[in-house]
Amino acid sequence: MEDKKNPEEEKTARSLNFIEEIIQEDLRNTKNEGRVHTRFPPEPNGYLHIGHAKSICLNFGLGKKYNGKTNLRFDDTNPVKEDVEYVDSIMEDVKWLGFDWEDRLFYASDYFEQLYEYATILIRKGKAYVCDMTAEEISDTRGTPTRPGKESPFRNRALEENLELFSRMRAGEFPDGAKVLRAKIDMVSPNMHMRDPILYRILHTPHHRTGDKWCIYPMYDFAHGQSDSIERITHSICTLEFEVHRPLYDWFIREIGIYAPRQIEFARLNLSYTIMSKRKLLELVQEKRVNGWDDPRMPTICGLRRRGYTPESIRNFADTIGVAKRDNIIDVSLLEFCIREDLNKRANRVMAVLNPIKVILDNYPEGLVEEMETLNNPEDESAGKRKVPFSKEIFIERADFMENPPKKFFRLSPGGEVRLRSAYIIKCESVVKDPVTGEIAELHCTYDPLTKSGMSESTRKVKGTLHWVSVKHAIPAEVRLYDRLFVKDDPDATEEGKDYKDFLNPDSLKTITAFIEPSAVNALPGEKFQFERIGYFCVDKDSVKDHLIMNRTVTLKDSWAKSEKSW
Ligand code: ATP
Ligand code: MG
Repeated sequence: MEDKKNPEEEKTARSLNFIEEIIQEDLRNTKNEGRVHTRFPPEPNGYLHIGHAKSICLNFGLGKKYNGKTNLRFDDTNPVKEDVEYVDSIMEDVKWLGFDWEDRLFYASDYFEQLYEYATILIRKGKAYVCDMTAEEISDTRGTPTRPGKESPFRNRALEENLELFSRMRAGEFPDGAKVLRAKIDMVSPNMHMRDPILYRILHTPHHRTGDKWCIYPMYDFAHGQSDSIERITHSICTLEFEVHRPLYDWFIREIGIYAPRQIEFARLNLSYTIMSKRKLLELVQEKRVNGWDDPRMPTICGLRRRGYTPESIRNFADTIGVAKRDNIIDVSLLEFCIREDLNKRANRVMAVLNPIKVILDNYPEGLVEEMETLNNPEDESAGKRKVPFSKEIFIERADFMENPPKKFFRLSPGGEVRLRSAYIIKCESVVKDPVTGEIAELHCTYDPLTKSGMSESTRKVKGTLHWVSVKHAIPAEVRLYDRLFVKDDPDATEEGKDYKDFLNPDSLKTITAFIEPSAVNALPGEKFQFERIGYFCVDKDSVKDHLIMNRTVTLKDSWAKSEKSW
């Protein structure tokens, strides 16, 4: 009977990812009294990026799906690299993505006292000792995966001596690096992480939350699992590189004798044309290769936000890529596809000319202005309509005119006709060139008054439709044409004598002045538009009323699919 599922159930059953399968199995066995409790555990040592977004969506998504809870916990065990600036930005980004930790905001640093207690439990059990070797000696005696390690001469220190030295470490009696606390496990274990790992080091560095209360700090491995346990996390989901840490994770929990969460590893997100290492992202910021963490070319959440990405598009991206057990690289065009799809539904259309050429309609009455009615969004009738002023002089896109067009050119050329979107059909009568440069200065055209858009007698059809703006009504705007930050699909791949910075795209930002229809004059920072026939754009956070700044989020079509080879 168990096997008979209706088709709907069948479908959901098939689409479970491997983590959901584990969770459902645990629920069936009423493990953890049927609770599901996950956490997102960032270290506040940088801004969050799209890879973290995947982890956030996964952890909070599972919490929601199984009627459970999800904590936000800062893994703040390394005061040297951490900062409140990062704490604040991380909270802002998680909220913006649409997730809520409610009253469950925690810090590993809140558990320092408890973790210290746990360490003394291990010492009392003879499972941890204070080691006086230098960092170098410790690493030299560790061995390699194929060569066993050597035991520390301090490994068999008396229990009481260990307890005393550990409390003196805490009391600040020793300088940085003089001693460490190590677990006593197995120096010949094939798993390097089990070879007497360091639990505590001395660091006379104030912490952004505990000030100078502590001068010894737990290592990540000693803090992470125990923090999970304290919070009674049921499923501790992390990325694949922690798979080899799992025996240690479980060892600590077992030896200390506390509640045991289950660690589950999944493949981290890698994106083509993107780097995700916090260290490298910080380097780009510090070396001013980009304009800060929220530069719209950065893969950070704040960068994507400023670029015009929506939380929905990122959540949808995370859903689409799913969770895998093996490392892979996702094509960045999938992320771009997700934002196009979302903005297509929600962004109002406007007409904007990026590289203008002036068109004079010789037979259009001088001084006349007509308000052309047009839909804000053909995908969403509720977005309503607007009026766009039309007059004798308009701008069209320079690329929409060719003096000697090839056969299938359906845009404007001498003697040819096109429709101006929501307006009239026009015909090109003559071309005026700059006598010095030979460049086309303006086009003289005529319009056909019987072809006004929306009029019942307007039945004449032409192949091309162009966007336009009225010269005297257009608002000039600073438009930042962003493109991918790297020209190589795998900028991290090592090539002889090169590093990822050699593959920065020199054309990742071009700034131009464009002309936009007047309806956009009061657009506010964050507002999103489709520039008809061009792409999606978003008002920059630095935009003000008299100086409109628009960032290109993404072109209408994937321009890299074809042009890739030319790099
Ligand atoms: P660090 O090298 O500083 O540890 P990190 O990217 O792992 O960098 P954390 O702040 O430790 O940064 O990450 C928080 C959580 O996000 C972790 O659970 C981590 O596994 C997850 N995470 C980080 N990068 C990715 C990624 N590219 N894809 C999916 N999850 C990620
Ligand atoms: Mg990490």
